Amino acid sequence: MTTEIAQLATLPILSHWIDGCPVEVLPEQTGPVYNPATGQVIGRVPRGGAAEVDTAVAAAKAAFPAWRDMPLIARSQVFFAFRELMWKHREEMAALITRDHGKTFPDAFAEVTRGIETVEFACGLPVHLAGMNTPNVATNVDAFTLRGPLGVTAAITPFNFPAMVPLWIYPIALMCGNTLILKPSSHTPGATQLQAELWKEAGLPDGVFNVVYGGREAVTAIVEHPDVKAIQFVGSTAVGRYVYETGTRLGKRVGAYTSAKNAMLVLPDADMELTADAAVASGYGSAGERCMAQTLVIAVGDTAERLRPLMLERMAKLKVGPGMEPGMDMGPIYSAEHRESVISWIDKGEAEGAELVVDGRPFHHPANPDGYFLGVTLFDQVTPEMEIYREEIFGPVLGIVRAKTYDEALRLINDHKYANGTAIFTTDGGAARRFKLEVDVPMIGVNVPIPVPAGYLSFGGSRASAFGDLAMRGEDGVRFFTQQKMVTERWPEPGRRGALSLVFPGNS
Ligand code: NAD
Repeated sequence: MTTEIAQLATLPILSHWIDGCPVEVLPEQTGPVYNPATGQVIGRVPRGGAAEVDTAVAAAKAAFPAWRDMPLIARSQVFFAFRELMWKHREEMAALITRDHGKTFPDAFAEVTRGIETVEFACGLPVHLAGMNTPNVATNVDAFTLRGPLGVTAAITPFNFPAMVPLWIYPIALMCGNTLILKPSSHTPGATQLQAELWKEAGLPDGVFNVVYGGREAVTAIVEHPDVKAIQFVGSTAVGRYVYETGTRLGKRVGAYTSAKNAMLVLPDADMELTADAAVASGYGSAGERCMAQTLVIAVGDTAERLRPLMLERMAKLKVGPGMEPGMDMGPIYSAEHRESVISWIDKGEAEGAELVVDGRPFHHPANPDGYFLGVTLFDQVTPEMEIYREEIFGPVLGIVRAKTYDEALRLINDHKYANGTAIFTTDGGAARRFKLEVDVPMIGVNVPIPVPAGYLSFGGSRASAFGDLAMRGEDGVRFFTQQKMVTERWPEPGRRGALSLVFPGNS
């Protein structure tokens, strides 16, 4: 072992979680985990690949029949127990998220509670899994539907919601009777490790929930594994497209929920104070690293002239610093590389001719010079020809776009390649009604800037923001993770078999 590796071994090393146990790895099979507020390495995360995925899939396959056949009430009791444990540990989980991701502690805490909503939905699994029963569809013939699990499933998730996004996927998969491999982002592993331990404590049978850390190699192994029947992916469009195209070509069910560039449309009659709060909160919360952030403000008519000074007032008061420090509004960017990427987008916006109203690049946190901090950035006069209009930046960079009319603003939103979330700000109910009907984006806010639907509803975008036919969570999540079976059944009375007939069966 080299001295460098020996030093690494003194850092806490996370483990894969397979068949109900941590799977220890050698330091040389791990990569660093950074605290983005300090730039320091705080731990090591395994770099799993095909071997670990194979072991996890075998464990999940072995655990499947018993989990599928467990009485629904017994299964739901595991979810109730897990929900209580998650609630008890919610502050600890939020602190792990702040440590790994950088977002402020209150923001991380809110993420954990929004994730728990899906566990609460899963507690009602006997109701969600009920089928239809129609007696007498023909003489002495009854029909009914069953919702059965698929088998081994997988979730591949991003760095930006280390608890909430996995919790939007895997409780639904498990509640439907599937077993699962979670491949979380290696940047933010702490919250995953805690969830695996809490499942064990809640009484989940070994092998039902497994975690494999890693990057491209682990993802490829999951996507190509013949025993993995369905995958939900959340992350960038480039990787999501690969997972969707490869997985479906291999006969798997795949849903991929991907990148975004959301726009809020502001009409001249909007409450400008409320709208300024919304734009600043949505654009800069979690350092802009949310797929539902509104990163474009499409201001109609003279709106920008009135909105911009109100936004600037609010931006001047934002406090940027370590997420665990009380009173902070925004933490660091999650990684050094991503900070560089956001800076290069600001450079590009300037070069493209957008008006740089506030420049976040010079900001450095005095007490944490090695942290990945950036200030907030505002561009005005952003136009659809610019790359900063077309592409996702995923940082604290907001752009104002000026449109002459509602119709022009609507067209901009409907023509954008991404379609995840959108919002309208207005005091006119008729205009809001038109927007809900005319906008071609699935998740819509009316005077609500981050319109993430409640936990029992489905979540998902369209165009380049999602691949697949169904959204995640809610009713769509149950459909995704079950195979519907249609049963047609007859119990003839003894001695009344009827005559042999080769005619196609009619319903009479
Ligand atoms: P990412 O695509 O880099 O990573 C997502 C997952 O894929 C991770 O588990 C990662 O380890 C893995 N991965 C990364 N590169 C890979 C590669 N080359 N081959 C195979 N697997 C790879 O995304 P991210 O940076 O972690 O997350 C940010 C992105 O996620 C943004 O684009 C954001 O909009 C999107 N996102 C979308 C939603 C949604 O619901 N639509 C929600 C949250 C985040």
